[in-house]
Amino acid sequence: MNTLPNRLILQKYLRHNVHFPHIWCPGCGNGIFLGALLRAIERTGYHRDQIVLVGGIGCIGRATSYVDFNTVHTAHGRALPFATGIKAANPALKVIAIMGDGDAVAIGGNHLIHACRRNIDVTALVVNNFNYGMTGGQMSPTTPEGARTPTSPGGSIEEPFHIADLAACAGASFSARATTFHVREMESLIFKALSRDGFSMVEVISSCPAHYGANNGAKTPVEMMRWQKEYSVPVDKAAALSPEERKKMIITGIIAEREVPGWTEKYRATLDGKREK
Ligand code: SF4
Repeated sequence: MNTLPNRLILQKYLRHNVHFPHIWCPGCGNGIFLGALLRAIERTGYHRDQIVLVGGIGCIGRATSYVDFNTVHTAHGRALPFATGIKAANPALKVIAIMGDGDAVAIGGNHLIHACRRNIDVTALVVNNFNYGMTGGQMSPTTPEGARTPTSPGGSIEEPFHIADLAACAGASFSARATTFHVREMESLIFKALSRDGFSMVEVISSCPAHYGANNGAKTPVEMMRWQKEYSVPVDKAAALSPEERKKMIITGIIAEREVPGWTEKYRATLDGKREK
């Protein structure tokens, strides 16, 4: 259900007079992601009072300040514990945790894998720009091997996490990946994630031209977008690639989808003494 033109969706949900201008750099992918999220929320039909957005720390963590829902800006890495508590206390709410890659799989990595394992009824949206943009572009757990950052000036020597695959392996009932170049696909995957019970996650590969791009030969937002376009492959076509070829690519689409009971339903049944032994 998409009831409003796109520009009116932005009008409807942004806190225009409170927290603007925003802090994001020109050409950052965060605004593209936020627009897609607002359109996806509008399609779900939820009233704004039914939505809770929980953000962590980092550039994308500021998104919660800019939108007119119930919002919480929490500590670094702790968006998912806050989201879990909110959902357990009031299962009628649609709870969305917005995190960056450092937030989700570095300091908050333990929370992420256990939220997946428990199948908590929360939608996690992880905006992965491959570095710690807010503090100067340092290497993160998703920085690709060989990529240069201020803390890996000779190129990273580490294997990165692939967040959507990590979530799928840890038990998430829905896990997907999109890029800020493929904006319609991103919106559609976020809508699917919001429409489900259980733990759903969308990893969004995003542009950080100010740091990651500048350190790795893509100084302009256009070059970063071109890189996302050229190095993306849908999950069905990726099956034909060799392991070495897959390592270089961004594999987009649904990585895992399974129907398993969500944690909230089992938790409420236990509280009510109705759970089958
Ligand atoms: S530092 Fe990077 S991720 Fe942060 S706002 Fe600027 S471009 Fe975006």
